[in-house]
Amino acid sequence: MAVDGSDMSDTSNMAVARKADIDAKISAAAAMAAREPADITVLAISKTQSIEAIKPLLHLGHRQFGENRVQEAKEKWPVLKDEFADCCLHLVGPLQTNKVKEAIGLFDVIETLDREKLARKLAPHKDQADFPQLYVQVNTGNEPQKSGIHPAELAAFLTLCRDELGLSIAGLMCLPPADQAAGPHFALLAKLAATHNIKALSMGMSGDFETAIGLGATHIRLGTALFGPRDNY
Ligand SMILES: *Cc1c(COP(=O)(O)O)cnc(C)c1O
Repeated sequence: MAVDGSDMSDTSNMAVARKADIDAKISAAAAMAAREPADITVLAISKTQSIEAIKPLLHLGHRQFGENRVQEAKEKWPVLKDEFADCCLHLVGPLQTNKVKEAIGLFDVIETLDREKLARKLAPHKDQADFPQLYVQVNTGNEPQKSGIHPAELAAFLTLCRDELGLSIAGLMCLPPADQAAGPHFALLAKLAATHNIKALSMGMSGDFETAIGLGATHIRLGTALFGPRDNY
């Protein structure tokens, strides 16, 4: 890095450029669907990104982020939230039941409520002031290796969460199969949300967020589109 810190400002300029490009694409996709861009929240998925890589977005005023690992979020976000108190952090990766307490303290939204055991571990904490909003992850492709409630089992799972455990479900999220067109999966998730009177729809990533916006996404999850390519890990 140059002594004058020009490396940092390059990172910043890249963030500004990527953000502007995405904002324009969101506006266009929203217009096509007769929706308001303001009704679509961009979650900057900052997994694998350093605090230094995240800060330019915070300085641009961006406040909605997503991480997929509790441990990694714990290393980065308490520091960042000290400086940027109004951040909203979503968990978008699997949650082990032994990390529930930590996750409640760290995250504002848990998007990956995906099984009964986890619902039962969360429920005793539901009256805490810092209890996060919950989204149910739906395995729209019925993929055996993927987490999430299968569509045919969603009604029963929601009854368990809402009626038996007293948990409010604020949203649904999905990760469509990598080898299929995402559109039908997004349409299915939107239909399920409408059927069960659920408002938030977290769907669409860097490669397919415009499709997701057309099908009603309220939260799109963007990693590479905002930060550039990340190292696989
Ligand atoms: C990594 C990740 C994203 C972002 O993926 P990109 O293709 O980089 O936008 C979105 N959602 C989840 C659950 C992820 O793990």
